[in-house]
Amino acid sequence: MELKIAVVGRGTAGSLAAACITKIAQAGNEIELHHIYDSRIPVIGVGEGGWPSLVGQLHEVTTIPHDQIQLRLNATRKYGVKFEGWGQNNRDFTHYFTPQQVGYSYHLSADLITELLEEATVAQHIDTKVRNITKTGQSAIVDFENKPSESYDLVFDARGFPKEINPEEHMGISFIPTNTAIIRRCPPIFGLSGKGPYISPTYTRSIARPHGWVFIIPLTTHTSYGYIFNRDCSDIEDVNSDFDDLLEIEGIREFEKRAVIQFPNFVHKKMYEGPIARIGNAGAFMEPLEATAIVSAQIQIGMVLEMRQNRPVEYWNSDVKVINNFLINRMLGFGLFVGWHYSCGSKYDTEFWRYAKQRIWPKHRLSPDPENKEINALSKFDAMLDLLKQPVIDEKELTRHKILPVSSYAQISHGLGYG
Ligand SMILES: Cc1cc2nc3c(=O)[nH]c(=O)nc-3n(C[C@H](O)[C@H](O)[C@H](O)COP(=O)(O)OP(=O)(O)OC[C@H]3O[C@@H](n4cnc5c(N)ncnc54)[C@H](O)[C@@H]3O)c2cc1C
Repeated sequence: MELKIAVVGRGTAGSLAAACITKIAQAGNEIELHHIYDSRIPVIGVGEGGWPSLVGQLHEVTTIPHDQIQLRLNATRKYGVKFEGWGQNNRDFTHYFTPQQVGYSYHLSADLITELLEEATVAQHIDTKVRNITKTGQSAIVDFENKPSESYDLVFDARGFPKEINPEEHMGISFIPTNTAIIRRCPPIFGLSGKGPYISPTYTRSIARPHGWVFIIPLTTHTSYGYIFNRDCSDIEDVNSDFDDLLEIEGIREFEKRAVIQFPNFVHKKMYEGPIARIGNAGAFMEPLEATAIVSAQIQIGMVLEMRQNRPVEYWNSDVKVINNFLINRMLGFGLFVGWHYSCGSKYDTEFWRYAKQRIWPKHRLSPDPENKEINALSKFDAMLDLLKQPVIDEKELTRHKILPVSSYAQISHGLGYG
């Protein structure tokens, strides 16, 4: 049976979904793929740090050698995140990917990754605005601005952030204290030497500052700086002034102002509802402290495609709830991990850090959706923290969770001085 699939959106999430579907079609599955986007609506254009699974997946879907991919993305190899000034111990620490100093991802150009994925995609391209995507039985109807509606077996909605957070559709992640980013672009720190990729280990730096924190992401063509803060807590002029101070300390004389981005921290209550899958920033988002967005899109796309390929049609309906809850719990799990970084404050005793530690983090014990009894992300998060208190951690627990293993929790816990 031929499947008719639409991907709506050409940001990182939509482009990755379209390339993954192409791969499945090329393996002999009958799929008609429509890649729909409105070229008048820009992609968010940030998102420059990944997780290790991205390295393998980009190679798998593009079949381009790793070195070439790295060069095409102006990428450096990211081995983890270096935290400066976080926690109560007044010491800097690193969250390494697993295995430590072996597992790496990329710091990459958000624009170039979509280009790379587009090249690996075979689809009918439709450049127009989508007005609505609605579920009708086993299908999804896509309504366009200037052409007749079409029906699909499966639609990946990758249209980016929802216009507003609405409690009927979304659960807010109330325990994350930030909502705005100021992005600046500075000259590269690590350049290319010769024709090969830059292979020395690099790290995202995450520097605690009085109004929040600043990421420093090194690419071979530029370095990306982002000040993440709460616009309800701090005045943007004060944040810009502190940003200037930091750049001066870092010895940066020139920079380009890129964007000020307001973001919601949320999870869609229906990330997967059978014929519609909401992925990327349309499905969930949380501030970029641990760069969880691209890896979240990888999980969302992988889970939905895996299920559609391997489960007999008669289970598709009954699987919806299970898959949706699985995805919600994974996203909330990332949210808890990210929010926890604020639990011990930082070296700054400022309004923002008091607010983050004393008022916002304690909210993590409240259910984000009391109506959904299948939400168990908090009990899983507590179980990981309990595991750290064990005198000896069982061998099988060490490798049980691939993306956020117990070693990640241990590094953050020790680094922050938690417990
Ligand atoms: C400050 C900041 C830093 C970040 N850093 C990282 C990081 O280090 N690592 C990481 O993994 N992620 C990071 N992210 C997340 C990053 O934004 C996402 O990973 C990524 O860009 C996914 O975006 P998207 O594809 O879901 O949406 P977008 O990039 O917003 O793309 C949306 C697409 O949908 C199309 N579209 C929208 N509406 C319509 C419509 N009505 N009809 C047709 N088409 C439509 C647009 O044209 C566009 O193609 C960061 C985010 C922020 C805000």
